Amino acid sequence: MMETSRGKPILEHQGYIYIINKKSNNNKIIWCCRNYRHNQCRGRLHTIDDQVVLTVGEHNHEPSHLPGEVIASRTKMNDAANQTG
Ligand SMILES: [Zn+2]
Repeated sequence: MMETSRGKPILEHQGYIYIINKKSNNNKIIWCCRNYRHNQCRGRLHTIDDQVVLTVGEHNHEPSHLPGEVIASRTKMNDAANQTG
């Protein structure tokens, strides 16, 4: 588990970044995609004891392996490479 610069825990799974949406008993946590607020992405995730037990919904965007601007530039590079081929 990672943390944002503000100290909030975040979870990376299959290239998508999640933030905590709700905590419940028995160590179960419901996560929502970090793009949920801005892009209204419906991707969600359930974990129990930090193990992913369920994924819900679909993302409306491409995955990013790390948060931040570095990923955006890498994605653009990939696009350029595809066009070159
Ligand atoms: Zn998403």
